[in-house]
Amino acid sequence: MDVDKMEEKDWKYHGEGNKSLVLSHVQLSRVLRLLKYPAEDSENPPQTVEQAFRQIQNIVDFSSNVMSSLLGEKFIHSGEVVKLPLEFVRQLSIRVQHQRPAWRCDKVMDIYSGCALCLPNLTSPVLHQPTHTPPLCIEIKPKCGFLPSSKHVSKDIKTKVCRFCMHQHYKVASGKWRRRSLYCPLDLFSGNRQRMHFAIRHLIEEPQNNFKIFKGGQCIYSSKEGSDDSLDLNSLLHHLRPYFLYGNNRINTTSKAVLNDFIQVLVNALLSGGGGGDGGMVTERQGEGRSFCEASLFNKERIRHGSQGLPSDSVLFRILQTQMLDTQDIEGLYPLYHRVEQHLQDFPKESVRTRLQIDGPYDEAFLEKLQKCPTEDDGSVEFAVAKVHQYRVAMTAKDCSIMVALVPSSEKEEDDEGQRQLRDFLSSRPPAFSYSVSILDLDPKPFDSIPRQLRLDQKIVSCYLRTGGALP
Ligand code: ATP
Ligand code: ZN
Ligand code: MG
Ligand code: MG
Repeated sequence: MDVDKMEEKDWKYHGEGNKSLVLSHVQLSRVLRLLKYPAEDSENPPQTVEQAFRQIQNIVDFSSNVMSSLLGEKFIHSGEVVKLPLEFVRQLSIRVQHQRPAWRCDKVMDIYSGCALCLPNLTSPVLHQPTHTPPLCIEIKPKCGFLPSSKHVSKDIKTKVCRFCMHQHYKVASGKWRRRSLYCPLDLFSGNRQRMHFAIRHLIEEPQNNFKIFKGGQCIYSSKEGSDDSLDLNSLLHHLRPYFLYGNNRINTTSKAVLNDFIQVLVNALLSGGGGGDGGMVTERQGEGRSFCEASLFNKERIRHGSQGLPSDSVLFRILQTQMLDTQDIEGLYPLYHRVEQHLQDFPKESVRTRLQIDGPYDEAFLEKLQKCPTEDDGSVEFAVAKVHQYRVAMTAKDCSIMVALVPSSEKEEDDEGQRQLRDFLSSRPPAFSYSVSILDLDPKPFDSIPRQLRLDQKIVSCYLRTGGALP
């Protein structure tokens, strides 16, 4: 990317999360991801240019040296740090302001450092086959897919109801969302097609910040506070229908059938090895285990049979394995965090912090520290640091997003219309898509966010015990 030839008119607002705002190029398949600050700091940047640069370089290093090795290189695009002209950034920040959702405007885009992360645009992928139909990209932020089994867990409810489902009650009680999502991550991560289907249906019904759909790079479906949900679903169906007309159903495809086919294609992609077409490979599956959330509305009777677990080369399996590096639960981790904190206070030299790699660098040595962590606590600060590193990596995996890009198989290959209709009719299967699966949003979580995690955990659990357990 030639930053000297950057023209502000070539970039537009693409989306944002809690930590960053994303702009996309109108022609090239590129995005710029800029940091955000709390609005009250807008006159006064909370960090220097060097610190901002370091922060973004840390994100790149963490993604390429640590997360990529845990999650699988094929899913990861780490990008590169770029320095942008300040005038370019300022103009853009003004131009995109009116497109930002109001509920995200408690933060402002960083216009001081000129630093950004440049990434491939995963919502408008350049795939091998040129096609007339724009790709569909589905973004899922799946959250934590397992129940803790650590002996340090003090409240029994945490071993029965998953964190996401409990957190939903807290979010509604605190006014963050108006309605509770009935999505349960344990259903999505089950590897059982019915449960996964059920989970995705609830993501569609109440997307919050866990689900988005893009068509040809444009967001066509996401949570819009205050809008009429049924209208949104109708417009989604209008977008999806052309992708799912086939066989003898060309005219009378019902909305229900379109939605079912869409979800089925998505489930296939999530269970696949991450790329390619029909996903017909036979893969080793990992047992479903102790992984049912009591808050999930999925009918438990139905999972007695046919639960297969996740294929070990699937994106969900890799994410779940990485999340499970949180072996202690925050309640068991906090005392270890405290041991590290104490050590840093007793030995306040910067070299101690650096040797323990508390704030990076996120290199092979960091990865080795967390991978070679002994199973038994020997009371050392090294053990505590390794556990804290593992926990932070798990937190990133609990917070990342999956992007599934679906490209309808080239119409060109099937120029004989009659032949295709016959095949579709005979197979009565949805049309073929080629897909690619990526993981995004792999920022390292700061060391000092751990005390906040403990407090949040306590608030969520006590809120659930007070209000949630009573609700259906
Ligand atoms: P969170 O609040 O989830 O931590 P964040 O502030 O860390 O979010 P991202 O999730 O990285 O930010 O980016 C915000 C949104 O921008 C994403 O949800 C996604 O829709 C879009 N986005 C991010 N990176 C890309 C990319 N490489 N290609 C296309 N879209 C992207
Ligand atoms: Zn749940
Ligand atoms: Mg995100
Ligand atoms: Mg993030």
